[in-house]
Amino acid sequence: MKCELCIVDEKKAENRCVICGRYVCNEHFIPSLGICKACELTLCHICKRRLAVAVCAVCGRPICERDSVRRGLVRICALCLQQQRGELSVDPL
Ligand SMILES: [Zn+2]
Ligand SMILES: [Zn+2]
Ligand SMILES: [Zn+2]
Ligand SMILES: [Zn+2]
Repeated sequence: MKCELCIVDEKKAENRCVICGRYVCNEHFIPSLGICKACELTLCHICKRRLAVAVCAVCGRPICERDSVRRGLVRICALCLQQQRGELSVDPL
């Protein structure tokens, strides 16, 4: 079984994504979440459970509706919002 996300150099797939079911190599797998890199891009980076609906205008993280706030035409994630308010300092990723 070859990794389904490797394009040039197809590595051996040793993991299976729990969301899409793709077989992927270690490079394309996030063991802590049990998902592949392709699915990681579609998930909110804050809760890592809901699908992202937008990208934070400040940090660029994919974010879901509940973890972000609308600011005019863009959305800002909850972490950036906290930083802007100065309530809490969060390490930028
Ligand atoms: Zn791969
Ligand atoms: Zn996947
Ligand atoms: Zn979320
Ligand atoms: Zn942000």
